[in-house]
Amino acid sequence: MARRSRVLAALASVLPWAAGCAAAGMRQREYDAVVVGSGPNGLAAAIVLAQAGRSVLVLEAAGTLGGGARSEPLTLPGFVHDVCSAVHPLGAASPFFRRLPLAAHGLEWVQPPAAVAHPFDDGTAVVQERSLPATADRLGRDGAAYRALMAPSVARWEQLYPEVLGPMLHLPRHPVLLARFGWRALLPATSLVRLLFREEPARALFTGIAAHATLSLRRPPSAAFGFILGIAGHAVGWPVPRGGSGAIAASLGSYLRQLGGDVVTNARVESLDELPPARAILLDVTPRQLLRIAGARLPAWYRRQLERFQYGLGTFKVDWALDGPIPWRAPECGRAATVHLGGRWRRWTRHGKRSGGAGRRSGPSSSWRSRRCSTRHARRKGCTPPGRIATCRMAARRT
Ligand SMILES: Cc1cc2nc3c(=O)[nH]c(=O)nc-3n(C[C@H](O)[C@H](O)[C@H](O)COP(=O)(O)OP(=O)(O)OC[C@H]3O[C@@H](n4cnc5c(N)ncnc54)[C@H](O)[C@@H]3O)c2cc1C
Repeated sequence: MARRSRVLAALASVLPWAAGCAAAGMRQREYDAVVVGSGPNGLAAAIVLAQAGRSVLVLEAAGTLGGGARSEPLTLPGFVHDVCSAVHPLGAASPFFRRLPLAAHGLEWVQPPAAVAHPFDDGTAVVQERSLPATADRLGRDGAAYRALMAPSVARWEQLYPEVLGPMLHLPRHPVLLARFGWRALLPATSLVRLLFREEPARALFTGIAAHATLSLRRPPSAAFGFILGIAGHAVGWPVPRGGSGAIAASLGSYLRQLGGDVVTNARVESLDELPPARAILLDVTPRQLLRIAGARLPAWYRRQLERFQYGLGTFKVDWALDGPIPWRAPECGRAATVHLGGRWRRWTRHGKRSGGAGRRSGPSSSWRSRRCSTRHARRKGCTPPGRIATCRMAARRT
């Protein structure tokens, strides 16, 4: 036993050194492309290049791959929480992801019984079901308007999503479909719900989903997020990866390595000068990070643009490990992967009006409540001990 633990201890001391040597070797080799940042976009770019037969190196500052798509044991033993992203209707729908053999690399999508629930103070709730008719039927006088808004786009989702999720500037293959989507999507969410709906449930449901944009709901194109996520919720569902969002990053990383890509974690890049020789450098980072890493090599006009870039709303998140389901007054909430807390739709829009999207509210009670607040159950198996629930509550404010 003692001999075994001595061997293990010796191995443990050698492994970081060996990993460090391997990483140092990778950083000296010449690559076709170096990708800085291993968020889903960085990994996707690296995979495209590796699929084309190019040699690729991904350098990631954090200890694990995935950026916003990471899962970690943030609370009690046995609970795995998503650090940022949790539900992935657009990930599951992504034409690119669907072409990759991610299931073979461990990714399994789990569909909740319902996508979104939006409870009100009187103990009732409105629910976005996977089924469009089932959702519309429970929207009272707004059912027909909801159906008319969603049905054409849900029916033609396969044509619509490459148009709206692809590059902004492109020649549309389905201009009429895109135009029908576009004029509504470009509106502020508040204008769209006033225009189309007359009652609280439909207005609140749409506004809550649009709040995922973390934009002021009074600003265009906040309706686009309510629209596209709402359509996706009906067309592809509201899936979460089994085991947490880290499973997306793990499967992308595993496939990239299978294609021959090199990946180094704990590798923060401070300047382009540190990178090994490469024909292309892709930086999957934010504008200020880009400026710091590559500023000296960028044209002055572009540097000025980056300097002026204003980050949007920051997100505040609390993770909880619970010993049982939340006893919602509206039992429908227990079926939904996402529960939007905040009640009546006007409360969701108030903060945007006060701040005008231009700065923090002053005073100690800076309002979290009227922005996005969602409680998301990790209902997927593999994230919690049996009978337990991991959940988080999020709100956004301007940083
Ligand atoms: C709280 C929160 C909740 C979210 N929820 C959802 C959701 O439910 N569904 C959804 O689809 N999306 C959600 N998102 C959005 C989603 O996380 C992002 O759209 C996605 O992660 C963006 O991917 P990316 O590859 O562009 O960048 P990121 O995921 O931000 O990855 C960038 C990576 O670059 C690395 N990096 C930065 N600087 C350096 C450097 N100098 N050297 C080396 N590496 C560096 C970072 O460590 C990071 O890993 C959420 C975001 C947040 C913040």
